[in-house]
Amino acid sequence: MTANYPLEGGCGCGHLRYRMNTAPLVVHCCHCRWCQRETGTAFVINAMIESDRVTNLNGEPQLFQTPSESGRGQRIARCPKCLVAVWSHYAGSGHLTKFVRVGTLDDPGRLPPDVHIYTGSKQPWVEIPGSMPAYPVFYEREDIWRRESLERLAALEPAIAAYKASLAETG
Ligand SMILES: [Zn+2]
Ligand SMILES: [Zn+2]
Repeated sequence: MTANYPLEGGCGCGHLRYRMNTAPLVVHCCHCRWCQRETGTAFVINAMIESDRVTNLNGEPQLFQTPSESGRGQRIARCPKCLVAVWSHYAGSGHLTKFVRVGTLDDPGRLPPDVHIYTGSKQPWVEIPGSMPAYPVFYEREDIWRRESLERLAALEPAIAAYKASLAETG
């Protein structure tokens, strides 16, 4: 990880501003069709991080339920004024993690991807450097994540389990 923290970012109109306080758990470059459609481009770069490590500096994002590759949907947090998406909450860990859209950082080059996923549907002109981990669909966490990230996720697991249990109750 080449960045110093915190990093700041925001939407297109300036209403929404956030601060990423620490390194993310992992940075995905996702080439799935859903990400291509949602962004209108070739891939999306998402930095997965515990939600409480991202602070809202200005504005309150609005959540939109949106389909995703998994079939379980995601909630995309958008600026209520310009509707630019700043992060998503995916079904697996819900509101507990944010997948911050790296392109909304003031300096997006600070968070290069750790891994490329869903390269089975990558656009044919996109060339991934041979040294970069890339998977046709997804990967095993232990193969990619830093030890510190694995420990941070383990610390979050009880909250994730409680979240999933609450989903099961409400159906
Ligand atoms: Zn905005
Ligand atoms: Zn995707």
